Amino acid sequence: MPCADGRMQQCYPVICAWMADYFENIHLHSIKQPHCPVCEAPKSSFGEGNSSSWQLRAYQLYFQKMILATQGDEMERREARQYLEDRAVGTSEGVFWNMKRISPTSIIVPEILHTVYLGMLKHLMHWVTSFLEHHSRIDKFNHLWAMMPPYPGFARFNKPYSRVTQ
Ligand SMILES: [Zn+2]
Repeated sequence: MPCADGRMQQCYPVICAWMADYFENIHLHSIKQPHCPVCEAPKSSFGEGNSSSWQLRAYQLYFQKMILATQGDEMERREARQYLEDRAVGTSEGVFWNMKRISPTSIIVPEILHTVYLGMLKHLMHWVTSFLEHHSRIDKFNHLWAMMPPYPGFARFNKPYSRVTQ
């Protein structure tokens, strides 16, 4: 590949991030819903807030277990199937499990539309508007929302917040 200094460089592209929503991620990583593709947190722990206490997913070990689950002896097959089932691992290999120089647990990055805009922002704005309605301030907020001044790269709103649908 030609470099900016004029020399030819030998390059190896490496995937360092994969932007996808939750459902795309669990498909790519072969994890069953509603589990996490990054760690092995059980469903019963969701909402506790301390995600750092759970073991990161060991995708290469999952692959070895998947081989044992089909090619091992009777006891190995049973043990491997149970191991995978306990961790909500799907029945087929994940896309990134055996790719070189890829860490399947760290390439997942938030997808801005579904995670930030339609997830966190929608949740936050529901909380804010409920608060404003409770304190009889929603009309003032809607008025200010529609009056936002122009800014480069910012699409102005031409209607009150409560009439925005997307
Ligand atoms: Zn997790």
